[in-house]
Parts: sequence; structure tokens; C-alpha cells
Amino acid sequence: MAYDRENIFAKILRGEIPCNKVYEDDHALAFHDINPQSPTHVLVIPKGAYVSNDDFTAKASDAELTGFFRAVGHVARALGVAEPGYRMIANTGVHGGQEVPHFHVHICAGRVLGGMIRPAG
Ligand code: AMP
Repeated sequence: MAYDRENIFAKILRGEIPCNKVYEDDHALAFHDINPQSPTHVLVIPKGAYVSNDDFTAKASDAELTGFFRAVGHVARALGVAEPGYRMIANTGVHGGQEVPHFHVHICAGRVLGGMIRPAG
């Protein structure tokens, strides 16, 4: 799947659409999810143009990979959710339920989140 430069997260990265920013560095931008599914629900996205986790882990440089995942951990600690814990979600592709085609990690926290996977629909 080719990267769509008009996806909503690309527009956020270009500053064309606002976001409620939590953190930014050379490799990542983190902002609050517009439709939170838990008391804390933050998205972390890489600055590079990658469709999904599949695309990112296949094509990103070691510096991008390291920088991004360090940012995810940093954001969770900065949010104060590293203890008692959080869930990282990277929906990937159609079966993964990915809606926005720019790789992103959800950090969901703030309550006991329950079982791993809920049935679709
Ligand atoms: P996914 O299903 O993993 O692709 O998740 C996409 C997420 O992006 C959903 O949780 C949406 O609520 C969230 N989202 C969509 N548009 C925005 C936006 N403009 N700002 C913040 N979050 C957004």
C-alpha cells in the first residue's frame, strides 16, 4: 500500500490540522486521541511517511526505529502511566482494524483494561 500524503496524521505533522500535543522530538509526535477509549489515550506517530507497523519495521532506519520506540516509552513515563501500566496497540491493516494509514501506537491507560481482544462488530 502506497503512503497517502493526505491522511489525517500527515496533515497533523505538516501543521495543517491541530492536535493536542503531548510530546515531540526528531522522530516522533505524540498527541491525545480525539475519541479516547480509556482515561488516558495518547497516539504516538513517527515523523517519517510509513503506512503501518509492517511498513515501518521493514523500511525505517535503525535511528528512526530506536528514536520512535524510545519516544513511546518516554511518553508513557511522562504521562505517569508506566506504573501501574498501560496497553500499547498498533492496529495494522484491514484485519488489524487500522483506520488511519500512518503508523501509530496507541497508549491506553488509566484503568484496568480487561481482556486482550474484544469481538469485532
Ligand atoms: P486506528 O484505528 O488504529 O487507525 O486508530 C486511529 C485513531 O485515530 C482513532 O483512535 C481515532 O480516534 C484517532 N483520530 C482520528 N483523527 C484524529 C485527530 N484529528 N486527532 C486525534 N486523534 C484522531
